[in-house]
Amino acid sequence: MSSSERASVNASGMLYVVATPIGNLDDLSERARQVLAKADLVAAEDTRHSGRLLQHLGLSKPMLALHDHNERGRVSRVLEALSNGQIVALVSDAGTPLISDPGYIVVREARGAGFKVSPIPGACALVAALSAAGLPTDQFLFAGFLPAKRVGRRSALEGFRSQPATLVFYESPHRITDLMEDVVAVFGSDRECVLGRELTKAFETFYAGAAADVLTNLQEDPHGSRGEFVVMIRGSSDAPGAEASVDADRLLALLVEELPVKKAARIVAEVSGLGKNELYQRALALKSD
Ligand code: SAM
Repeated sequence: MSSSERASVNASGMLYVVATPIGNLDDLSERARQVLAKADLVAAEDTRHSGRLLQHLGLSKPMLALHDHNERGRVSRVLEALSNGQIVALVSDAGTPLISDPGYIVVREARGAGFKVSPIPGACALVAALSAAGLPTDQFLFAGFLPAKRVGRRSALEGFRSQPATLVFYESPHRITDLMEDVVAVFGSDRECVLGRELTKAFETFYAGAAADVLTNLQEDPHGSRGEFVVMIRGSSDAPGAEASVDADRLLALLVEELPVKKAARIVAEVSGLGKNELYQRALALKSD
């Protein structure tokens, strides 16, 4: 921490939003360690969980439980600490607070009350997953956890079907297979997907390929439904602004006049980026018209 930063911290309260590791403890930044060491109060999603992290760092700090079910009620306690000139560190169980984690109300209220709020960046599962997935990252759409029930989940996925940006979701181990079944049903078996599992941990695994193959790999892997997952789906290539600019339907209609259906579908898939199976079905329909 610079001396000017320390001076302003001492002059008035400061809320630090501190990212913690998503698996590998070595990913805690030096700055995060310094801020936790200086904090007068650590507001944590789970005080026992974050208490272990503090213990690992050789720190003992007053802690305040701040989770989804009590966040609004805890705001006054955080604001009181800040008005007393204290340094408050906000942490969640893993990764960056507020990213599918509590903290939004406290951060908003602290800013609204005129206190300084500063991020201490670090691990975040969605960024870690995207950085190594090999999918386009110029545009991505992160939508956190999808609805837990199948009907709601499929309808949410339908809404993303033509989205050109890479889609990113979080999913728990006991729903990952159901989610991938829905991805195949909604986006087709050919849509490219990458799953990042147990990132930064001993059993880190990436499953990559066509949606149907990723689902099969997951089902065949004895560890497939264990651990934490980031699900990434390549954006739609037939949406406006996406790479494909060919009129796939017109090209397919022309080619099925001259070529066998399978060959026509393969050529159009190659030039348009659309799924082979989907185009094969369309070609069959055109042929029978
Ligand atoms: N705030 C966290 C972040 O910055 O990524 C996310 C918290 S959210 C409650 C937990 C979800 O994040 C998990 O269900 C999983 O989808 C994802 N996640 C967290 N750690 C992960 C890891 N090591 N590998 C893969 N996914 C992870």
